[in-house]
Amino acid sequence: MDQVKIGKFIAECRKEKGFTQAALAEKLGITDRAVSKWENGKSLPDASIMLELCKLLEIDVNELLTGEHVTMENYKNKAEANLLEMSAKVEQKDKLLLKVEKIMIAVAIPFYAAMIIIGAYVCKGGNIPLGIALIVMAVALVAVLACIGLRIEHDAGYYECPNCGERYVPTMKAVVMAPHMGTSRKMVCPYCGKKGYHKKVISKNKGEN
Ligand SMILES: [Zn+2]
Repeated sequence: MDQVKIGKFIAECRKEKGFTQAALAEKLGITDRAVSKWENGKSLPDASIMLELCKLLEIDVNELLTGEHVTMENYKNKAEANLLEMSAKVEQKDKLLLKVEKIMIAVAIPFYAAMIIIGAYVCKGGNIPLGIALIVMAVALVAVLACIGLRIEHDAGYYECPNCGERYVPTMKAVVMAPHMGTSRKMVCPYCGKKGYHKKVISKNKGEN
């Protein structure tokens, strides 16, 4: 909170109402020294008289604490700005998740292949239980990573229908069951009902990625 801005705003509102510092102080049952301190940005009105002060100046507490008149238009703009900021944060997080997934796959595939090959050699060398254990572990590891990957692909962003262009979040089941090419999945569009390869997109807004 900007105490100086709030002080200036109090002074401005007081003058608009035609009060002197002394008159305002008297109405609030405080000293005019206190009013002067607010207006110079040296202190904030006590919470106990804030409401009374706002009533006298015909402003709301939000305006008092912001240090300016907040119009309905401003309320809307501020709310929209906050929403945009929030969705930008979600998109950033989703992009990061998809990147993590790609790295995970890139690391897992050679690791998986290596474990299978080593397992096969160990089997061939005679230690069949150890060889089989290695292969089972490799398969289990890939299954776990596939689950995590599917979860990320479902949760992050949206899928876009190439037919009608709508963007949506499919059910987890649809994602699991769908054949895929890269991050595109063959699914049925919940809007137009057509089946096709639906592209992974981060933003809900059409025309963006
Ligand atoms: Zn569609």
